[in-house]
Amino acid sequence: MNCQICGKKTASIKKVTKSFGRGHSLVVIEDIPVVSCSSCHESYITADTAREIDRIRKNRVTAGKAKRVLVASFKESAA
Ligand SMILES: [Zn+2]
Repeated sequence: MNCQICGKKTASIKKVTKSFGRGHSLVVIEDIPVVSCSSCHESYITADTAREIDRIRKNRVTAGKAKRVLVASFKESAA
């Protein structure tokens, strides 16, 4: 895929697990698609991914529910 930073076709998606917040607001999100480029060595998430992370954090009523939603939607978009 094309890199959004340098424009070369050397970018690929890596799935990572990240934690956001702390204490009672802590939420761990698995399989976040991070774009990693082998030309400019930048790693970043797309605007769509950032929006999805925000949505998941706001809807973390139960961690399990949020996790299932996240995994399902990101597998869909990566296909
Ligand atoms: Zn690049």
